[in-house]
Amino acid sequence: MYQEYAWKKYNDKNLSEVTKFNEEYKSFLTKGKTERLCVQQAIALCESAGFKNIKECTTLNAGDKVYAVNKNKNIAAFVIGEAPLTNGLAILGAHIDSPRIDLKQNPLYEADTFVYLDTHYYGGIIKYQWVTIPLAMYGVVVKKDGTTVDIEIGDHPQDPVLGITDLLPHLAAEKMQKTAAKVIEGEGLDILIGSMPLENEEKDPSKKMILKLLKDKYNIEEEDFVSAELEIVPAGPARDFGLDCSMVAGYGHDDRVCAYTSLRALLDAPKCEKTICAVLVDKEEIGSVGATGASSLWFENCIAEIIDLSMEYSDLKLRKALTNSVMLSSDVSAGLDPLYPSVSERRNVAFLGKGICFNKYTGSRGKSGCNDAQPEFIAKLRSMMDNDGIHYQTSELGKVDQGGGGTIAYILANYNMNVIDAGVPVLSMHAPMEIVSKVDVYEAYLAYKTFLKNA
Ligand code: MN
Ligand code: MN
Repeated sequence: MYQEYAWKKYNDKNLSEVTKFNEEYKSFLTKGKTERLCVQQAIALCESAGFKNIKECTTLNAGDKVYAVNKNKNIAAFVIGEAPLTNGLAILGAHIDSPRIDLKQNPLYEADTFVYLDTHYYGGIIKYQWVTIPLAMYGVVVKKDGTTVDIEIGDHPQDPVLGITDLLPHLAAEKMQKTAAKVIEGEGLDILIGSMPLENEEKDPSKKMILKLLKDKYNIEEEDFVSAELEIVPAGPARDFGLDCSMVAGYGHDDRVCAYTSLRALLDAPKCEKTICAVLVDKEEIGSVGATGASSLWFENCIAEIIDLSMEYSDLKLRKALTNSVMLSSDVSAGLDPLYPSVSERRNVAFLGKGICFNKYTGSRGKSGCNDAQPEFIAKLRSMMDNDGIHYQTSELGKVDQGGGGTIAYILANYNMNVIDAGVPVLSMHAPMEIVSKVDVYEAYLAYKTFLKNA
């Protein structure tokens, strides 16, 4: 069902499947405001579906279901197939980090009785979108004795919210002359968190009040921020969007919408010949770097471990398993926004409502830096999508030379496996409130299941 709107597929009866699936997705998105919280939810979903931690396994056989976790921020789940692992795996890979505002290591300061947290934004944000909205703070503070304090402020009904102030229009004449890139600067994204002075304190009394609160509530000191990972994200739940409730508005659709649908596809997959896998990685928004990003050796080590638990291990078997694998890099696409049609070319743009979107290539300035998928591989995908009545479309990220971007596709393609980007189209990508169509969420889930079964 190439480039057709998917809504007509759903009559009153099976529209409830779309609605139910999206309710479950909204719950995942609302609770999964950081990569750590996404991993926690993924573990719970895996365990309730009968998956075991790979650390508890001494052998692996066809039909076994296992998961592995890396540093609390990166997870891979596998169902072992009948075919030998050297035939390759069918892999769904998505990222669970989203653009946000991180705290600096020495964040706390007072100015004119206001207390602020100094920040450094994470990923590609349009800075002016993040001021004067309710923000929440999530993450961990790890103390010198190794204990971890979980922080979640701003989403429970009784919680306060945090935020970033902006100038009033009456006094913004000079500011309004600036370009959009400069109107809010990186150092201007400091979070206002307090204004009440502690009694009988001369120097920084409001900051001392905040430190007292942190000590009383969390037993942390100012220096503990040095070993903290605290993320400022939009407050509030994912919600239905539009009078017809046809869309979902929320923070972090990029790329938790593909992470959730990929994981659910794996958990709900029918018996598959090949070993199937869903891997959720961190750090995509800053270049897939680091131990928990897609460039890490961790995933390769996981495959090595699975081979070692399944058969006599050799390096050549690992290489064969990787090179014979196929993968959907499950990541979002930019949907056409009718308010901004000039950045896209209509024959090669994703439309909300037309189902999962395949991107043969991403990149910028002449496809630079992209994974350009093999047509032989795409032909197989077309065949399996059409056979199962999946609504799918293809797109580029905007007009040629309009801009560009990348995903994890090229990194896994380095193993010589066939990889293509495939995901849900999004409006207002990287904004505090992103929008997706409910049918695209459901069609992506169905498409991922079809891929696991037929790849
Ligand atoms: Mn993405
Ligand atoms: Mn992104």
